[in-house]
Amino acid sequence: MHNFLPIAYLQNQFVPFSDAKISIATHALHYGTGAFGGLRGIPDPQNSDQVLLFRLDRHCQRLSQSARFLQYDLPADKIQSVITDFVKKNQPRTSFYIRPFVYTSDLGIAPRLHNIEKDFFVYGLELGDYLSPDGVSCRISSWHRQEDRSLPLRGKISGAYITSSLAKTEAVESGFDEAILLNSQGKVSEASGMNIFVVRNGTVISPGFDQDILEGITRDSVLTIARNLGIPVVERPVDKTELLIADEVFLSGTAAKIAPVSRIENYVLPAERPITTKLREKLTAITENRDPEYKDWVFPISIA
Ligand code: PMP
Repeated sequence: MHNFLPIAYLQNQFVPFSDAKISIATHALHYGTGAFGGLRGIPDPQNSDQVLLFRLDRHCQRLSQSARFLQYDLPADKIQSVITDFVKKNQPRTSFYIRPFVYTSDLGIAPRLHNIEKDFFVYGLELGDYLSPDGVSCRISSWHRQEDRSLPLRGKISGAYITSSLAKTEAVESGFDEAILLNSQGKVSEASGMNIFVVRNGTVISPGFDQDILEGITRDSVLTIARNLGIPVVERPVDKTELLIADEVFLSGTAAKIAPVSRIENYVLPAERPITTKLREKLTAITENRDPEYKDWVFPISIA
């Protein structure tokens, strides 16, 4: 059961979540022609009249870019002001997750993006930490990450998540927690909803933007934090076999933050994870606004 935040935003207005309904004929439901964002908010540990949103500006920018792929002109500053009002109206008192969504809201049939009505909605739910500190087990998926030439992978296009869903279910039903997808070149791309990092000999390695990854905001944060800590960072293609002999492997994403990987297929990874632990602790301190160096990443919103 999810605890949804009481107020949603739909068709340019705030309404009770239970009234935020759309038709079964909605175009995007049939064709996957939507795009979404996902960001976390937490109560400010230093000020109970505030919540903190992590990298709100980047999330709004990415959603605006995703909307462009759907031929929908939705400026990032408009998204940012709606999300800010959304939070003020809901006054969340526990950790939460915001899901903004842009989509073809028309009731007509035929897949297309031109001459069609679009809309933007936002809702939220309470979401605490759900990570096991022991790490997740991963299966190398039999499903491959899509290619940028068939789908705009820099957008979080809803239809693309069929592949994530197939991969995740295949992994879970065969006894693993998560799936790692290779790209069409057979190189490591990402997990079903998270980016991936490999640590070898003290260097943090992550597949680059040319590896059909989503431009993850947590990934960007992790790379910046690592560089600033003086940890060598390389973005390059990663082979499957590098995963199996890595010193550490971890996944990154808004919902999971940094998730250590304990096992890949039948290969157990070392239980000592000094770099993963260091990056995770730093990221947590930053999101809680305890690190002045990264104040620009934290957006306090008053809910008094
Ligand atoms: N890859 C995919 C396919 C995702 O859905 C997500 C989650 N948004 C990520 C990576 C991680 O991105 P972010 O750090 O921006 O949440």
